[in-house]
Amino acid sequence: MKILEVNNLTMRFGGLTAVDSLNLSIEKGEILGLIGPNGAGKSTAFNCIAGVYTPTEGEVRFDGQITKREKPWDLCKRGLARTFQIVKPFASKSVLYNVMVGAFATTDKRAEAEEKAINVLKTLNFEDKKDFRSGDLTIADRKRLEIARALATEPSLLLLDEVMAGLRPGEVDEMVEIIRFLRDQGVTIFVIEHIMRAIMALSDRIVVIHFGKKIAQGTPREVAADENVIKAYLGG
Ligand code: ADP
Ligand code: MG
Repeated sequence: MKILEVNNLTMRFGGLTAVDSLNLSIEKGEILGLIGPNGAGKSTAFNCIAGVYTPTEGEVRFDGQITKREKPWDLCKRGLARTFQIVKPFASKSVLYNVMVGAFATTDKRAEAEEKAINVLKTLNFEDKKDFRSGDLTIADRKRLEIARALATEPSLLLLDEVMAGLRPGEVDEMVEIIRFLRDQGVTIFVIEHIMRAIMALSDRIVVIHFGKKIAQGTPREVAADENVIKAYLGG
């Protein structure tokens, strides 16, 4: 069953077509990778899917239902969560506070939100830092916080935008493990990532975009061998 369907999605900023008639879908339980050169339109596509932008054209269906006019928070309550490429936790607030913000998508009771947040932090082996000021975290821990906050909304579909950027190799491996673990818990995952070995290892399928258009899709092995992909991206 498809959890997400993107049909003919187009997003223009003035004269610039950032996403151009994009079609793709994700099966429940899948990890779908999205790759492409800088400026290809990946983050813009995520913003359209997550309700941050209203697409110029096209349609997004989440859980069988068209998302038109649904705002990010509404979609979040429906089970669609995203992280941002630029991590923006409330810097002066604690880790726990930031994760509770996510948990309020599923409850309006403070005690319940706190309990859910603590559970997520435990799941991510992050509970020991719950009282840290978010602004003082290392990059790797800020990425972990971003995932914790998204996870606290209890998503069925999680969009991850470059959660591995800036991480050291060991930290990348750890993040790959976290993402696999989330999938094993039943979360469907749509992931943008530049670190090739990570996206190749993680994804069941990969969609490649260039200038907003899909140029290839298939298994990691198939896209890595695709001539258009090598020319546009992998060949650098
Ligand atoms: P990617 O995430 O693949 O690197 P983006 O989706 O961030 O690419 O950007 C795609 C194109 O759209 C780029 O040319 C970028 O400059 C442009 N763009 C992105 N967001 C905006 C915006 N809010 N206003 C105008 N142009 C934008
Ligand atoms: Mg981006």
